[in-house]
Order: sequence, then C-alpha cells, then structure tokens
Amino acid sequence: MVTKLLTIKGTTQLLGVIGHPVKHSMSPIMHNAAIATLGLDYAYLPFPIAPEQLKTAIDGFAAIGIKGFNITIPHKQTIMPLLSHISDVAQAIGAVNTVWQSDQGWCGTNTDAAGFMAPLRLLERDWSQQPALVLGNGGAARAVVAACHQLGCPDIMVVGRSADKLAAFAQSWQRLKPPLSVHTWDQLDRLLPRVGLVVNSTPVGMAPKIDASPLSDAQVNLLPSQAIAYDLIYTPRPTRFLQQTAGRVTFDGLEMLVQQGAAALEIWTQQPPPIDVMRRSLLTELDT
Ligand code: NAP
Repeated sequence: MVTKLLTIKGTTQLLGVIGHPVKHSMSPIMHNAAIATLGLDYAYLPFPIAPEQLKTAIDGFAAIGIKGFNITIPHKQTIMPLLSHISDVAQAIGAVNTVWQSDQGWCGTNTDAAGFMAPLRLLERDWSQQPALVLGNGGAARAVVAACHQLGCPDIMVVGRSADKLAAFAQSWQRLKPPLSVHTWDQLDRLLPRVGLVVNSTPVGMAPKIDASPLSDAQVNLLPSQAIAYDLIYTPRPTRFLQQTAGRVTFDGLEMLVQQGAAALEIWTQQPPPIDVMRRSLLTELDT
C-alpha cells in the first residue's frame, strides 16, 4: 500500500513517458508511487506526442530541463536518431525505452531485456542447457532475444507468422550475433519437446480476448515438465497460456513491467528503486 504523497514544489524535477497514445500507460502510477516513497523531489507525467511532433517535443524537453523519460509505442525506434548516445543493448534490440539528459545531450538505453531477465535470474538454472522458444517476432521479442542471449541460452528459436518478417528479424542481429533460428508456426510441434523456456511475446490472450492462447492444449503437453513458461501479457493475470502451463514454473508480464521501470528509475535517480512499492502500485491499479 502506498501511503506517502507526492508534493510538487518550485524545485520539482520532471520525468515522464512519451507515446501516442499514452493514456493506457501504467508507468505514471508506478513511478510516482516510487518517487513518493523515496521522498524525491520529482514528478512523473504522461506526454501524448504525435509522431510528427517528436523532434519538437524532445527539443522542448531539453529546453525545460526534463531529467529523463520513458518511451512507448510508436516512438521506440524513431527516437534513436534524436539521441547523442545509445547503449549497446538498445542498439542490439533496435529500440530505446529510457532516455536521460547528460552533459553530452540525450542518452538512451533499453531496460526491457533487464526487466524480462530479472525474475529468471532468481532461479537456479544452468541457462547453457536451456533452449529458448520465443513466440512472436515484434518489438518485445527483440528484448527477449537479447535477454536470452545474455542469460546464455544455447538456442533461441523465434516463431512468427510471416516468412519475410522472420528473415528480416534473423538478419537484424549482426551486432549481438545470438544463437538464433527462425521458424513458422507450422514447425512448432517439432520445437516444443526440446524447450527449457517458452515465452509468449505475441498479444494472443490479452484482454479482452482472454480465452485465446498461442499454444493448443496438445502443444502444451509437448513441453518438458521442467520448461519455464513466461507470458509478457499482464492483463489478465493469469493468461490462458499460463493456466495451461500451470504446474511448471511460470511468470507473467507484470514483473517485467515493474523491473524495466525500476531499472529506468535507478538510471534517473541513482538510488535503489523501491521495487515492492512499484509492484504493489501496479497490482492495486490492475485490481481496480
Ligand atoms: P508487436 O511489436 O506488435 O509484435 C507482436 C508480435 O505478435 C508480432 O510478431 C505479430 O506477428 C505477433 N502476433 C500478433 N497477433 C498474432 C496472432 N494472432 N497470432 C500469432 N502471432 C501474432 O508487439 P510487442 O510490442 O512486441 O508486444 C507483444 C506483447 O508483449 C503484447 O502483449 C504486449 O503487451 C507485451 N509486452 C509486455 C511488456 C511488459 O513489460 N510486460 C513489454 C512489452 C510488450 P506479425 O509480425 O506477423 O504481425
């Protein structure tokens, strides 16, 4: 429960999230709860910015001295040419979700891979023995691939609908060179029995279509009993996919959301983020 209140004063520094739209974002709830708990003189605001206004907005942010901001759809790629420095992980993923102001100008990184990995790192697994299967080849899948590579997964199999998109996805990892292979959905049954980690990075199963799952019951039965199931979706909790995989180690997208936010807050404030408060603020918001 968040008990401390945020106070805006003449000295308050601004953080925020840009997107179009941005009204669905839960980041303001989570970050303002953390800021209040830490007693910091910051406030975190949503900024809806149309694509054609992105450069004007970023110049304006510099002019008014905004400390840093998160980026959501559709700006995660288009912001990159507007930054002075981009971290290696963000360049490998091809998207930036966190920006901060430095002496050199705007710097950007991507905390989605770290957020995805955080709950997995708490498990005692020999990741060099855990092939990963990533369902979907969109933006989130890119962070998942970078994370699986960092964990040390020996094989990262990405499944998608379009052979052309899969080929482009496979080609786009010249910098990181993960042990990647791409497959269409009709090849799934062959891949499932050798998987140590399966990740849903498609929107299949997200509210309101909560009865949908990327895998049939028969396909779930092909997974080894030790396989970890991870769904990036956080509404509903649990998804149909995580209900099907119950009995195995499972994770939903809430922890990734919390942990990517915590990593961003630490960059901006240089303080250990109150992760429990951030998690609870989101759970409260999702329950209302
Ligand atoms: P995205 O860039 O639009 O990619 C979606 C991917 O899913 C694409 O590869 C798309 O295939 C595939 N897909 C869509 N509908 C499908 C269907 N009916 N059957 C099979 N494949 C389908 O979206 P994203 O940003 O990667 O997000 C994906 C999911 O992750 C969303 O549910 C999002 O909410 C979640 N997410 C969670 C977090 C978190 O912090 N927990 C962070 C980011 C994203 P095509 O390319 O063929 O269209």
